[in-house]
Amino acid sequence: MTAVAAAQLGYRCHIFSPDADGPAKKIATAQTTAPYEDENAVRAFADAVDVVTFEFENVPDATLAAISERMEVRPSIDALRISQDRAIEKTFLNDNGIGTAPWAPVKGPDDFNTATEAAGTPAILKKSRLGYDGKGQIRVDAAAALETAWVSIGAVPAVLEGLVDFEREISVIVARGLDGNSESYVPVDNVHRNHILHTTTAPSTVDPSIADTARSIADNIANALGLVGLLAVEMFVTRDDNVLVNEIAPRPHNSGHWTLDACAVSQFEQFVRAVAGLPLGDPERHSDAVMANLIGQEAARWHELLAEGNACLHLYGKAEARPGRKMGHVTWLSPATGRP
Ligand code: AMP
Repeated sequence: MTAVAAAQLGYRCHIFSPDADGPAKKIATAQTTAPYEDENAVRAFADAVDVVTFEFENVPDATLAAISERMEVRPSIDALRISQDRAIEKTFLNDNGIGTAPWAPVKGPDDFNTATEAAGTPAILKKSRLGYDGKGQIRVDAAAALETAWVSIGAVPAVLEGLVDFEREISVIVARGLDGNSESYVPVDNVHRNHILHTTTAPSTVDPSIADTARSIADNIANALGLVGLLAVEMFVTRDDNVLVNEIAPRPHNSGHWTLDACAVSQFEQFVRAVAGLPLGDPERHSDAVMANLIGQEAARWHELLAEGNACLHLYGKAEARPGRKMGHVTWLSPATGRP
């Protein structure tokens, strides 16, 4: 979707990934299929392009560090490092005055007591690195269960987070350009099923003052990161109207896919504009939207969805519909309401 937006602005994309079948490779101008650790392939790739970005935060930072020596990577490798590791991310957020669930690092058995005291129970134990869509996460109902939980996620560095009794989950996507200007999309309501995003509703129906708070939190994080690119900020709204940040991702985000059909400038175009050093576009929406992910076999309903007049269907061309795999999404549009 980024490569499509780039092509629309006249750019040619060169995609580097270990997966020969990656959807972007079907539509980009040039492709490299190699492990991220293949230094020669990484060097040749860097020499062939003008600017490098990423839309997946588990690219090893050594790969991007090697590229950074030869050319500009946007967003910076620092932004990637912060968002790759939950402990570093939460420390960064708290150091910048941004609230999160109560949490503590769990590097090993010595941390079990302090972690359960800091986070309380029930809690969720999450691998610090390489987890997504609920992978590498486990609920911990009592302090005594932490050891078994930690072993079950592979006895790797983790964070223990208090379970937030949230009223809803929202997210904000903000773009920040080379000149430091930023533009955010309207906050949206997100519903997860089995830890995977199920639907996004734009705009969120939260109180406008909470929407303003959420947008300024996203702006503050983008500024603190010195971001050049796009940032998604996932947040919990608590029952007493606090806004806590769950996680950040310095890239286009699933909860921004609705912008493809409901805004003049989508998150993908905004991302390309920021990374290419162009002025940012207007993030205003012309329609309200509900986006639903098509997970695994759900994508088999595509022909029914095509028959709905207001449904915008996006299929990613992935070969195999494995359970839990995002195969596409659908966005239903309706005329924009007056909400901010
Ligand atoms: P994550 O991978 O951290 O985004 O977590 C995926 C989903 O799990 C979130 O969107 C929430 O629905 C739920 N979740 C994660 N952490 C917490 C928490 N501390 N309290 C309550 N729910 C959570």
